[in-house]
Amino acid sequence: MKTLIYNAEIVNEGRRFHGGLLIDGDRIAEVFEGDAPASHAALCPQNCINAGNALLLPGIIDTHVHFREPGLTHKADIAHESRAALAGGVTSTMDMPNVNPPTTTLERWQERMALGAQQSRVNYAYYLGATNGSGEREEEREARIPLKLFMGSSTGNMLVDNPDTLRRLFHMSACHANSNTAHAAAPFPIVAHCEDTPRISERMAEAKARWGEDPDVEHHPWIRDAEACFRSSSLAAELARETGARLHIAHISTERELSLLSEEASPGSRLPHITGEVCIAHLLFCDEDYKRLGTRIKCNPAVKSRQDRDALRHALADGRLLTVATDHAPHLLSEKQGGCVRAASGMPMVQFSLVSMLGLVDEGILPIERVVDAMCHQPARLFGIKGRGYLRPGYKADLVLVKPEEWTLRREDILSKCGWSPLEGCVLHWRVQQTFVNGRLAYDHGHINDNLRGEALAFEYCF
Ligand SMILES: [Zn+2]
Repeated sequence: MKTLIYNAEIVNEGRRFHGGLLIDGDRIAEVFEGDAPASHAALCPQNCINAGNALLLPGIIDTHVHFREPGLTHKADIAHESRAALAGGVTSTMDMPNVNPPTTTLERWQERMALGAQQSRVNYAYYLGATNGSGEREEEREARIPLKLFMGSSTGNMLVDNPDTLRRLFHMSACHANSNTAHAAAPFPIVAHCEDTPRISERMAEAKARWGEDPDVEHHPWIRDAEACFRSSSLAAELARETGARLHIAHISTERELSLLSEEASPGSRLPHITGEVCIAHLLFCDEDYKRLGTRIKCNPAVKSRQDRDALRHALADGRLLTVATDHAPHLLSEKQGGCVRAASGMPMVQFSLVSMLGLVDEGILPIERVVDAMCHQPARLFGIKGRGYLRPGYKADLVLVKPEEWTLRREDILSKCGWSPLEGCVLHWRVQQTFVNGRLAYDHGHINDNLRGEALAFEYCF
């Protein structure tokens, strides 16, 4: 079946132009500039969509989400969160391993892939969580699954703090880069959460002595401070340089860490050796917002100073920060009670990431081409995701139509299972109209086609 989308403002690969595209089955058949070619007039009217000047973008690829399934489904699950993703124009997600039981073995990873196939409304992939025992099994090393490394605290047995293990993991990743030419073209990066545990423990003890057993959330960025981030991310950068492994530092939250990002390409790859992800919360909020939003914006790494936020915005605008993700990490509001000790860290964001970023475009903080680059193109390039992330003939038709519209975010708009958002009450200036996944209209003006399921992401150089 063919579908024509015309009269759209396409933003793709650094260009913005008026035009449209033709979908054939699950793929993009053609991208055109200007009016639809006359040959397409033969299509029946119900297969023609007048975009009415809406922006037409590649579907968002969110490489950092926590959909909480299995084991934590009282707060979120794949069905709810992938529906929220669709409503936000997100067509692919890469889900983190800190579920229960954690995704730290191939067997558990396979079980999760099966859950994704059953439940996910968007395309999906799952990280394997590194442990102090990681990389000892041959088949694990050969499986080529994206690896998430927690060099910070609060993640149970996934905290890798053994220096030998760290070195082995980085070597393992680098060895893959050299083992054959296919891998050399795009070795997987190690995705690392970097916060130094001893530093945080030390600061927490001091905070409790000063402010009591459960310090107010305003002290969160004092406890999990810029120094904790830098100590850990600079160690990761050092290991990457020493071994040649590619490193993608997750949710960079401080100005200081920007100095660790490298501009030169890594051996055998056109990608920079050390790259960085920035998350929506660190772009939207700063420490002044704790007064207003309290524990709703408590996340790890902490939302830091205004100066940090502005430095992150600049680094995203000029391309030093490569990708934008959400770190969509829902908790129930009841779990967000208390202060630095008791309140859970993390917030839902996947449904409002694109519209929030378009808000930053309206404020003149970054060009729209860079938003599409950081949320669609670079995630695909970074992981070698096959046939997605760009509007190109032959690529999967993962698309979003989004239009200027002023609306106030109310609780009933929220599709995440936890049922709240730090953005409640905010006036947004963009609204997602339609989201296509693999050529099918999965989200249409508030309606979700619940019969559709996403596909497993394929990694070009890896499986
Ligand atoms: Zn996360």
